[in-house]
Amino acid sequence: MRVPLLDLVAQYQPIREEVLGAIARVCDSQQFILGGEVEALERELASMLGVKHALGVSSGTDALLLAMMAFDLGPGDEVITPTYSFFATAGCVARLGATPVFVDSERDTFNLSLSAVHAALTPRTRAIVPVHLFGQSADLDPLVELARDRGLSVIEDAAQAIGARYKGRLVGGIGDIGCFSFFPSKNLGAFGDAGLVTTNDDRLAEKMRLLRTHGMQPKYYHHLVGGNFRIDALQAAVLRVKVPHLAGWTEARRRNAARYRARFASAALTQVELPVARPECHHIYNQFVVRVPRRDDLRAHLAAAGIGSEVYYPVPFHAQACFKAFVDPASRFPVADEAAATSLALPIYGELTEAQQDCVVETIAEFYRKA
Ligand SMILES: *Cc1c(COP(=O)(O)O)cnc(C)c1O
Repeated sequence: MRVPLLDLVAQYQPIREEVLGAIARVCDSQQFILGGEVEALERELASMLGVKHALGVSSGTDALLLAMMAFDLGPGDEVITPTYSFFATAGCVARLGATPVFVDSERDTFNLSLSAVHAALTPRTRAIVPVHLFGQSADLDPLVELARDRGLSVIEDAAQAIGARYKGRLVGGIGDIGCFSFFPSKNLGAFGDAGLVTTNDDRLAEKMRLLRTHGMQPKYYHHLVGGNFRIDALQAAVLRVKVPHLAGWTEARRRNAARYRARFASAALTQVELPVARPECHHIYNQFVVRVPRRDDLRAHLAAAGIGSEVYYPVPFHAQACFKAFVDPASRFPVADEAAATSLALPIYGELTEAQQDCVVETIAEFYRKA
């Protein structure tokens, strides 16, 4: 039985006609840049996410860049990010000439550690970027409180966490700005690159709207040096078809996570450490990441059996060649190092069948029985 890590064709089949209709609508209008589809998507997502403002942008990476530009982050400014995340979280900081300051994660959730954030504060700290890794919110309340006390900005990297909740509140609207990605592998995936920034602050929304189109208002009068960070109308039209399905797709992922937990428990596989879902967090399982011994051998065993898996992420930021200048060689990140060496993402997409999940668990059990 083949079990891919992600099967986007299975998600596409039942909505194919509707998506093609939406694409045709944009083609017929020849309105490709901003306009009605983008504005409608922004209204629909602002309402779904419970935020005042939502702006469609070109990618999750550009969402982060735009958010950081809205706070004028630059040379001399320090921005605290987890060391264990996707590259863009810290890459955007460095691109602006600011200094990313890496912190270790919490052992149970993979999310940034509050005590590590405290230890990383300096008079130059300007912002904190909590990442809601794999679809589970970081512990936001103490972070937001700390930020308020110190006058720091909180930029939520919610790229993997659309619809995730923290103490009942949707992520992306809890910090100052929320950044989302519609990269095809995210829970809400476009047909290419796209992203979103959210905020409840009118001034920040206006600034990001300006920066999204070269700081231009009106046409050819530039107030700020921005860029082209616009979402395509074609992507907006596709996403509008998908938005009403998102809650159902997320529920299917959560059901699959529960099913893995039950199957792994009955297989009594003590080698496999399951992801911890905190009671105050509504986890949306963009990824189901286990920790395992002999991870790379297990991965090869799964691949030989036709089962997809992935390592998110094999190299934390503090060990990346391009970030060398930002890392004190004496600093230690034991949790991230361990996660990088042992974490493995298993197939969790909504259309996964019970038989496929049984096959994943059985193939892992077989590997450790042989060992
Ligand atoms: C996917 C992702 C991004 C970047 O999003 P793109 O749309 O691929 O640019 C940023 N941060 C995290 C945590 C992500 O998973």
